[in-house]
Amino acid sequence: MKNRWRRCRRSRRFWLISALCLLLCMLLAGGALLALRGDWRYRIGLRLRRYPAPELTAQQPQDGLTEVGLEELLSDPRVSVTADLLLINGSHPVPDGFSPGLTDEGGCPMLPSVLEAFRTMNEVVRELTGTRLYVLSGWRSAAEQEQEWLESGEKLAAKPGYSEHQTGMALDVCVVGYGGMSFLKTEAGRWVNDRCGDYGFIIRYPDGREEETGMSYEPWHLRYVGEPHARIIMESGLTLEDYFAHLTPDTLYASGEYYILRTAAQTLSVPNGFAGCTVSEDNCGYRIFTFRMG
Ligand SMILES: [Zn+2]
Repeated sequence: MKNRWRRCRRSRRFWLISALCLLLCMLLAGGALLALRGDWRYRIGLRLRRYPAPELTAQQPQDGLTEVGLEELLSDPRVSVTADLLLINGSHPVPDGFSPGLTDEGGCPMLPSVLEAFRTMNEVVRELTGTRLYVLSGWRSAAEQEQEWLESGEKLAAKPGYSEHQTGMALDVCVVGYGGMSFLKTEAGRWVNDRCGDYGFIIRYPDGREEETGMSYEPWHLRYVGEPHARIIMESGLTLEDYFAHLTPDTLYASGEYYILRTAAQTLSVPNGFAGCTVSEDNCGYRIFTFRMG
């Protein structure tokens, strides 16, 4: 009886030590894989990241406001009309008759403002990482989008009429040999995902936000929204849908050297002495005015 008890204890100890060894091996193997796979480390870091509240403060300018009619404001030489903030998703299609004025980058059509921002960002990427970004896809016609939708499926490509690519404001980018999810294996890809907000771009379909955006994570799909919107969105980990929910209509928000007003009004209260202003429809019934003060 005593011998059986000893044998039993020895057997339990054996299994306990074996289980601990197995656990240790798994931890070491996991650690080695994480050390090798920068993309996995990056995605784990993304999931653990805590974001601050958006840098938007409802605030009146020190120099006061002036009431101006919409027509008069749109004819002001300091004001330019863009389409930077059009919301395009499964329930907000590309507006009827939308016709972007495109320019061509090595066979990839896109909006001139998008090309300029992309070139600036690409120069910084080259200086910091020694590699260049390439555009795999810029503007697409409805027929090209239909082809993409049929080939990729609806989780990775929007249906025709509902794609940002049809506006010329979206770019699918890569590093040579690293397209799609592999983009995150490169230093350049991770840098772009962290810093594109400084150049007017957002990661339009972030990790884990499929319910809001309707699309799976696409670290290669950049959407141009311009300053300061891109910086606010990226620093706060928002989707474009989230961001619009933060912009209460007819409230003037301050963010750095900018004031932002989302409104459908025909008479507006605008900050005195603004240096420049862009106006974009948001595809939800409002216009978004972005006043630059500096
Ligand atoms: Zn895309």
